[in-house]
Order: sequence, then C-alpha cells, then structure tokens
Amino acid sequence: MSIDKELLEILACPLCKAEVREVREGEGLQCVQCGRIYPVREGIPVMLIDEAETKEEGKEEK
Ligand SMILES: [Zn+2]
Repeated sequence: MSIDKELLEILACPLCKAEVREVREGEGLQCVQCGRIYPVREGIPVMLIDEAETKEEGKEEK
C-alpha cells in the first residue's frame, strides 16, 4: 500500500517541519532532516513525535 502523493506533500515532520518520504514500502514515513520514522497504520500516517522511531538511538540533540 502506498500513501497518496498529495497527502505526502502536505505532511511534514512535526519536530523539524521538514518533508517526509515513504520508507518500508509505505509502512513508514521518514523525515529527511532528523531521520525519524513515523508509522503508517492502515494507510494513515501517524505524525506524532512520541510514535516515531529514531534510527540512531542514544544520539541526543540538545
Ligand atoms: Zn524531523
């Protein structure tokens, strides 16, 4: 399943407001800036920081 292209264009990372791109064959959306992956549940992107996966654990930006 892939995400609607128009929807993808309006979606942005809630943290850095950067664009997101499809990963994992549409099962996730990754922020191009911070690399967080937001889950897509039943075709609905969950754009919540708390739900996002971070690729590099232990690397904090402060
Ligand atoms: Zn981000």
